[in-house]
Amino acid sequence: MQLLNKTDYAVETSQASRHVDMFVRPFQGPYANPLADDRFWMFAKLSLGLALFTHACFILLFVLLGSTTLSLINVGSVLCYSVCIALARQRRYGIMMTLVWFELLTHAIIATAIMGWESGFHYYALFLVTVTFVGTRTRKQTMIARAAALICLYVGLSAWAESNPAFGEVSKSTAYALRLFNMVVSLGGLAFLSYYYAETVRRVENELHALATTDTLTGLNNRRRLLEIADYELLRTGRSNSPLSVIMCDIDHFKHINDKFGHASGDQVLVQVTGLMQKSIRQQDTLCRWGGEEFVILLPETAMQEAVSIAERMRLSIAEVGDTPQALTPVTITLGVAQWRSSETIQECIDRADEAMYIGKRAGRNRTVPESIL
Ligand code: GH3
Ligand code: MG
Ligand code: MG
Repeated sequence: MQLLNKTDYAVETSQASRHVDMFVRPFQGPYANPLADDRFWMFAKLSLGLALFTHACFILLFVLLGSTTLSLINVGSVLCYSVCIALARQRRYGIMMTLVWFELLTHAIIATAIMGWESGFHYYALFLVTVTFVGTRTRKQTMIARAAALICLYVGLSAWAESNPAFGEVSKSTAYALRLFNMVVSLGGLAFLSYYYAETVRRVENELHALATTDTLTGLNNRRRLLEIADYELLRTGRSNSPLSVIMCDIDHFKHINDKFGHASGDQVLVQVTGLMQKSIRQQDTLCRWGGEEFVILLPETAMQEAVSIAERMRLSIAEVGDTPQALTPVTITLGVAQWRSSETIQECIDRADEAMYIGKRAGRNRTVPESIL
């Protein structure tokens, strides 16, 4: 590893731009957040695939029951869901949703008219409850209008079926068997959709939390995440009475590196210094980009002496690499170390490490300073 390789110091910041990309690329999906949007389209394709499969099974069922009309209606449904899947692949939300509404409603109405309310085909219209509220970009008024239309249609269909006998009479026992079957399929389908939706929300929440707590350039924890982890570690440390230390670290004369080699090269140095720091810490330690060219390391179960030796290991590993003939410029860091005192906040401990670090800066940089000299 070289700090600012002479032959090629064109920068590699793709790690950062990949994250940023997700937020700047244009998209017209139903969700304002690209992560949620991607999950929605996966969800849509899966649900449409299941709907297509269910209707293909219905074709078979109605051929066996001798109802040509209903078999043909299901052929229509299979075609409709095939078109919907093609639309989902192209992420065409509006027309796809209209087709889903059309299919679910007409299917429920025609099947109820032919087989009667007792056969339970109207349960499939209940899928429209979930479809109605999909997409945070759908206007509230549109959602309310759709929900009201659905209630009116469902109640209307029930009233109409009450006073009109089914066109193609089926025996009571066949209607009962069909109702049980339709209940199982529709309630099972709704349960699956609800589970998948809840799982999607959980995943997107996790991904967003990771994005909100990760520094885009270095991939390190950011300040917010370090404070979250510190809350947890302080509770643990308080309970077990074990020591906890903090290192504050700052790259020396970083402004000079930026000015001389450009901001992009400065970014590259930040990424490389981060890599070297990570190699010097232990698994239980948390390294965070505190801001700019400053880093904080949280060291649980570590007293001052051990923390100072970890800080020294870090300092030397960076100074050594910056001192090789391949390195474009020497890079050094200055570190301050403080041990947490019970009943103080983590911020107070970090402030003492920061003061120690500034003493090191004034004393000539490229050194580790423990708080004992404050
Ligand atoms: P000292 O040894 O006293 O710490 O001097 P310094 O030059 O390192 O400190 P100073 O605070 O004067 O300058 C820090 C510079 O770090 C200024 C700022 O432009 C730069 N910087 C902060 N964040 C980034 C970043 O993400 N990328 C790059 N390339 N530069 C950054
Ligand atoms: Mg600095
Ligand atoms: Mg600084």
